[in-house]
Amino acid sequence: MKLKIVLTLALTSTILTNAGCYSAESIDNRTRSSSSGTPQQTSASASPTPSSTTEMKNETNKESKQTGFSANVPSGFSIPSDDVGKRLVREYGSMFVARGVTPPVKVVFRDESEVSAWQSGVQSSTESIGGFSVELQTAAMNALKEAIADAKAKNLKITPRNADAAKRTYSQTVDNWKSRVDPGLQHWVSKGKIDAGEAKRIAALSPTDQVPEILKLEGQGLYFAKDFEKTILYSVAAPGASQHISMLALDVAEFDNAAVRRVLADHGWFQTIPSDLPHFTYLGAKESELEGLGLKRTTASGRDFWVPNI
Ligand SMILES: [Zn+2]
Repeated sequence: MKLKIVLTLALTSTILTNAGCYSAESIDNRTRSSSSGTPQQTSASASPTPSSTTEMKNETNKESKQTGFSANVPSGFSIPSDDVGKRLVREYGSMFVARGVTPPVKVVFRDESEVSAWQSGVQSSTESIGGFSVELQTAAMNALKEAIADAKAKNLKITPRNADAAKRTYSQTVDNWKSRVDPGLQHWVSKGKIDAGEAKRIAALSPTDQVPEILKLEGQGLYFAKDFEKTILYSVAAPGASQHISMLALDVAEFDNAAVRRVLADHGWFQTIPSDLPHFTYLGAKESELEGLGLKRTTASGRDFWVPNI
């Protein structure tokens, strides 16, 4: 019943994605336990892909469960062939294999109209939680409400971190992006690392066109996270590429409480972006099923994150 067209192509590329969420403050000031510097660039294609024969065989056998990331992305999901797209999938692509919900079929939304058209076509629910209005895809909301009830029985609370903890618009992701790019350009001009004219040229580009430019500068060691020491992608999602746009993410105020994280995981809400500690992603699966969906566990900052195994 799903996808598969994708498999063959998966050979050369990986999947795309939508990204993290990040509110303005996010994780910049946290110590990334995992490592320094920029995330690994591909080499992803190294993962074995099924031969087309295997594929066809599996396709005819509806009972057989496909495993692996490429096998579990939505039907019609377009695989990015460019470095930026591939990178974004690696950074925050876990939501593309979420069960029981509707992940987008592209990694980056182009503009507000594309985002609002997509959001209005997905079944969503709005609830008032902890004093904030929260909108999520309905299955994600139902699971969240169960988690909240479960938490309450254990004397715990699960509440949104702030007003934009759940659904975001395209322009919110642009604002977050600019909140790093503009100060970053100023910083590197002041350090004599970027020519003022070049900074002006980059600042004038559309947010989407800025992404490869900024990542290129980061490739030269000029980072754009708040502390200028880490990649911007640890700090904010690329414009149009946020799990919050997909209404499958929630930034949780009580993220530091391991018991709260356990309750959320028990209800399909997992952490998927190692740089973003308050951010939870609805995957709609049990923890024991996540490897089969093509995710792998990685540990950072003393907690588990489930990232694409690509
Ligand atoms: Zn988030």
